[in-house]
Amino acid sequence: MTPLTLYNSLTRSAEPFVPADPANVRIYSCGPTVYHYAHLGNLRAYLFTDTLGRTLTWKGYGLTHVINITDVGHLTSDADSGDDKMEAAAKASGRDIWAVAAHYTQAFKANLKDLNVRDPAHFPLATDHVPGMIAFGEAIAERHCYRLPDGLYFDTSTVPDYGRLAGTHADGPAEARIDAVAGKRHAADFAIWRTSGPDEHRQMEWDSPWGRGAPGWHLECSVMSRRYLGDHFDIHTGGIDHREIHHPNEIAQNQAYGGTADTGATLWMHNNFLVDRTGKMSKSSGAFLTLATLVERGFHPLAYRLMCLQAHYRSELEFSWENLAAAQTRLKRLVQTVAALRARGDSKGAATAAPYAERLDAALSDDLNTPKALPVLDEMLADKRIAPADRLAALADFDAVLGLGLLTLAREDLRVRPARAGIDDAGIAARLEERRAARAAKDFPRSDAIRDELAALGVEVMDGDPLGWDWKVTI
Ligand code: AMP
Ligand code: ZN
Repeated sequence: MTPLTLYNSLTRSAEPFVPADPANVRIYSCGPTVYHYAHLGNLRAYLFTDTLGRTLTWKGYGLTHVINITDVGHLTSDADSGDDKMEAAAKASGRDIWAVAAHYTQAFKANLKDLNVRDPAHFPLATDHVPGMIAFGEAIAERHCYRLPDGLYFDTSTVPDYGRLAGTHADGPAEARIDAVAGKRHAADFAIWRTSGPDEHRQMEWDSPWGRGAPGWHLECSVMSRRYLGDHFDIHTGGIDHREIHHPNEIAQNQAYGGTADTGATLWMHNNFLVDRTGKMSKSSGAFLTLATLVERGFHPLAYRLMCLQAHYRSELEFSWENLAAAQTRLKRLVQTVAALRARGDSKGAATAAPYAERLDAALSDDLNTPKALPVLDEMLADKRIAPADRLAALADFDAVLGLGLLTLAREDLRVRPARAGIDDAGIAARLEERRAARAAKDFPRSDAIRDELAALGVEVMDGDPLGWDWKVTI
């Protein structure tokens, strides 16, 4: 096997992966803020961590993965200004904040299932860990924090090398972190605790030594990662936006709590953005695509997984319906190949799939190079020297790391079929049967009439389609 190399945002370089305990690699991934549905960009972040986890398992490592659920504390700006996203969403919809959190948490988990993202060992909720956050705050308050009327703030000048991860320093802040909290000693200082104002009523509030209020967002990840993975674990992940504010702040907290320069994790890994023509996809902009939108338009969730695998996780990926349709066609071809191999099934061949497994391993071991791994799968499946039964066995092995569900997907699952199409599958099958009968009887006007009728309902009849489809929905 090729040794695994992963890109560390801390050093801005690819490094050999050396876990503290190969039998138990510990990974913490910053989870979603559950004030809305996850958009396709957010889901890219968890497809990345899933590929990381699956690669580790495939290479024989044991794994403990944690994805937290942010149900309190994340403000409309990452840099501690604006309203709490959860409070604002609950207020806008007139719903109870706990119901809002439960609804979107459940929807997020359903999205992960649909994308074949494996369940992490733990999905901790921030609101279940507030006492731990208060204890953490108390431990660092005296040496690292100061009080302002609206809360307890972390003084970023009290830890070594603040901003190293972001590539900025406390006195040279990125634009995003300049915010309006009066009295902060440094622009990059951030809230550990946000004390409610005298007339302020938050739906989520707790008593603390700094008054009734709510925890700052960054605190939860330092507390939950420690609670589930210990004070130093192997890999911390998040989207590339977290490299600028959230993760530098977590690191500062970890250093303050531990009393050392240790950041808390050996590797800090970040996925790049999913963008569309208008820019980065974001929940706060309101206009964003969810997995449900994609299914509504007739696409299979795993076509999106394949679309993400076609790009390296550190590259920006542009979303377009054309890209998604191309990925779905590629998936369809793979599924069709599996069906053909199953139909043959013979087990005598002149070669084994082992060289392909080695190439797959080499690609994934090179900082999870999935775009390089996918053609290895195609080539292996097409290699006629390998017996069909052996190709199927190798496919099962490859799919354990790719997670495309190639052994369970059926061709029919991948038919592009928008929820709003005017006729169902059984109706189409019946009309096509009539058309076949008309053609057999050489009644071509009748056959053409049926084709036109289906076209009016948004269904295109596909005579002689190379992929063997009878029809497709026009979108
Ligand atoms: P949030 O729910 O905003 O806390 O984000 C959940 C995860 O999605 C975080 O790791 C973000 O960094 C990541 N993320 C947010 N927007 C995008 C995007 N457009 N593309 C990829 N990842 C994203
Ligand atoms: Zn986090």
